[in-house]
Amino acid sequence: MTEDQNENGECVFCQIVKDQIQGYKFYEDDKTVAFLDLNPISKGHTLVIPKKHVANIHEAEGMSYMWDTIVKVSNSVREAFDPAGIKITQNNGEAAGQEMFHLHFHITPVYDGTEIEENYSREELEEAEEILDKIKEKMDEEDIEEIYG
Ligand code: AMP
Repeated sequence: MTEDQNENGECVFCQIVKDQIQGYKFYEDDKTVAFLDLNPISKGHTLVIPKKHVANIHEAEGMSYMWDTIVKVSNSVREAFDPAGIKITQNNGEAAGQEMFHLHFHITPVYDGTEIEENYSREELEEAEEILDKIKEKMDEEDIEEIYG
């Protein structure tokens, strides 16, 4: 057990999936979850993860359902904040910058006037509730009911 695991050996993202620790979740279906990154690069920076624990892309065979959530969430983030672009990234292995060893895709809005660099500056997550509300508003009515209805 590492400091990021609970007594059952579950990682932080598994604990977010199970609502054992607080995450700024705004979308959930039977296989995937989307929530705000705790140290966002930009407003609306979101992580999309599978509920099933796999460490990285190399263990993700048969998980093409991830794509549907990535597209759905990217559309909602774009509608909510109207960024100039959206970057999707996914790191595998420490050498590639992976810090959390539960597969995740970063959906990172890029705004006009910000530079696209490798070493982004990160901020504390502020106004999380307001950001969540804006994205939730843009998710399909049906999906929102599924989670909150
Ligand atoms: P990576 O470097 O691709 O493994 O990215 C891991 C990401 O997880 C970083 O952007 C962290 O800010 C984010 N992160 C770590 N812990 C949490 C958490 N409890 N809730 C939300 N995001 C987290």
